[in-house]
Amino acid sequence: SNAKPLFVGNWKMNGFRANLTEILNVEESIAKTPFHGDVVICPPATLAALAVDALKKSVIQIGGQDCHAEEAGAFTGDISAEKWKDLGAGYVIVGHSERRAYYQEDNKAVKAKSKAVLRAGLVPIICIGESLEERKAGKTLEIISAQIDGCIPDEAQSAPIAVGYEPVWAIGSGLTPTLEEISEAHKVIREALHKKIGDKADLTPIVYGGSLKPSNAKEILAILGVDGGLVGGASLKAVDFLEIIRACD
Ligand code: PEP
Repeated sequence: SNAKPLFVGNWKMNGFRANLTEILNVEESIAKTPFHGDVVICPPATLAALAVDALKKSVIQIGGQDCHAEEAGAFTGDISAEKWKDLGAGYVIVGHSERRAYYQEDNKAVKAKSKAVLRAGLVPIICIGESLEERKAGKTLEIISAQIDGCIPDEAQSAPIAVGYEPVWAIGSGLTPTLEEISEAHKVIREALHKKIGDKADLTPIVYGGSLKPSNAKEILAILGVDGGLVGGASLKAVDFLEIIRACD
């Protein structure tokens, strides 16, 4: 594709103030040796607020892990896309499989959140991916096409988005699909995306996520149509996250 590479570190509910140095170390490395793509770290909201103030050079960005679809109001515990924008975040992950599983978020909810992120002027990182059961039943391509169809709002025709392909069974498991399976999935996602946003699909980063680590990054990132990575566990340590990013050339 013609998309600019994108790497996203999803810290999930991990990290304390003491771990902010990991974010600063990533910044330091990218400042010293520039990367020809975008680097985003999504720490817990508490740390995101500290991180945006601690970052000195605008070589990496901070993102949210989720947002509420509404702009503001009586939604205790929630954070709107506008709050992320106000903080200085550049991206918000939406539709992560953990949100889908633990908070019953369906494609419709993910679409509403994607729309909210675009409304706030930020880039949604829209996550999709099949479960192990769906993979075993041979339904992977059908499921991910339906997820693209159901999650991408019309507004994405005129503003940038990113897509994260994350097979649910590959997240945090140490398992990954074969290179052929990843290639096939990204091709199908790009086609489904083309139906929704036309030629912009070619400029949209479709990143792979699920047990991406320094030891498998090179071969996965070399797949045509894989425009970067969404990294969970291996993004918590700057050295690992950087090794994955640097594996992309
Ligand atoms: C994720 O949760 O987005 C993820 C890819 O996790 P991990 O890298 O730990 O599999």
